[in-house]
Amino acid sequence: MHAEIIAIGTELTTGAKLDTNSQWLSIELAAVGIPVLLHTTVADDMPAMLETMRAAVRRSDIVLISGGLGPTLDDLTRQLLAELAGVELVLHEPSLQHVRDIFAKRKRVMPERNTIQAMFPAGSEPIENPHGTAPGIWFELPRADGSICRIAAMPGVPSEMKPMFRDRVLPRLPRSDRVIRRARVNCYGVGESACEEKLGDVTARGRDPEVGITVHEGTITLRIEAHGASESECDAKIAKDKQLIRERLGALVFGEEDEQLEDIVARELNRCAKTVSIADEVTGGVLSCWLTAVAKSEQCFAGGLIVGHVSKVSHENEPTDSATRARRLAETTRERFGTDFAVSIAGSLRTSGQGADEIPRLYLALADASGTEVEEHIPVADISFARNRAAKSALDILRLRLQN
Ligand code: ATP
Ligand code: MG
Repeated sequence: MHAEIIAIGTELTTGAKLDTNSQWLSIELAAVGIPVLLHTTVADDMPAMLETMRAAVRRSDIVLISGGLGPTLDDLTRQLLAELAGVELVLHEPSLQHVRDIFAKRKRVMPERNTIQAMFPAGSEPIENPHGTAPGIWFELPRADGSICRIAAMPGVPSEMKPMFRDRVLPRLPRSDRVIRRARVNCYGVGESACEEKLGDVTARGRDPEVGITVHEGTITLRIEAHGASESECDAKIAKDKQLIRERLGALVFGEEDEQLEDIVARELNRCAKTVSIADEVTGGVLSCWLTAVAKSEQCFAGGLIVGHVSKVSHENEPTDSATRARRLAETTRERFGTDFAVSIAGSLRTSGQGADEIPRLYLALADASGTEVEEHIPVADISFARNRAAKSALDILRLRLQN
């Protein structure tokens, strides 16, 4: 058994709006063990919608649709389902009353067009919508092989779609005897392909659990998906894989699920009652912004300097070469703030534009009582990526010091 999800709306195919409904529905379905094989986004265009629906009914046991249930001429989902099944639209009096009541409550006259929202393909069932005017449509269509395809059409507005799915659609879906559980392991300090190489057969396709790799601004996320007969079976498989991943990647692994580098750094600093300060002439404060967002970071983050290249405060008597400046910035900041550690980022994300083969370089320094370590870092071309990666790399130096 598997499901597919269809998002309907020209605002989605033109790129004006992003389809977030399908993402949300997929996560909900996975939680009850129903795998999703396809997402389709289709414009408010009857031939395209019909073609999409015909294929969906043929290949999927469950088809969830969002969008196109409104009263306007471009909302075609109910006509689509009628056409697909070769039936007429018929009026459902209680739904019409529901739509009327909503207008009455808002002290507005119901436009005649809204009657369409109480029309349903013959043989289908309305799905109540306590959060809006458009009821959803539940339709069970027989297939050529004698099985049935269950279709639920829901409003596009997420605040209406979500409760309708949870309260009225989910209880009607066939129970799966399979459970799907997911987990994420987060890594930093290595490229995607090098990470995969270290993992060996862990990321092989068709393996159970399946482990996928995604990367975002240098943070590598390993997504583990386990299928099984029970949650405990899946959890055991996931625990085994997490162990294996940690064995193969060692200190590259910094956290799990939503944990970010700054969460680990703040947690470790608090655990050993140490403090940190920052000197940053590169990211414009990204590093301190992230740190201050972490709960209880006020216990470990003493403050910092955001230094511009024209600054007189910190550049007086400062060396012009960035590596030395990174070192000096970390050391003087640590003294100034009286912290156990200080992290600095010096250099530039951009080339000066003078030499053709000149590449920008950054220097990250970590100072503590035992001395100062400086690391060279070559930023990527995209400035906002480069800024975040520089901040992450600086955090990672401290993370490794604290964890090892
Ligand atoms: P309505 O009665 O509000 O017209 P509807 O079922 O016709 O409901 P749409 O007109 O398709 O829904 O969409 C209404 C709004 O809901 C869109 O403007 C958009 O903001 C949001 N929306 C629609 N589809 C999606 C989607 N797939 N993901 C996220 N938001 C969506
Ligand atoms: Mg609409």
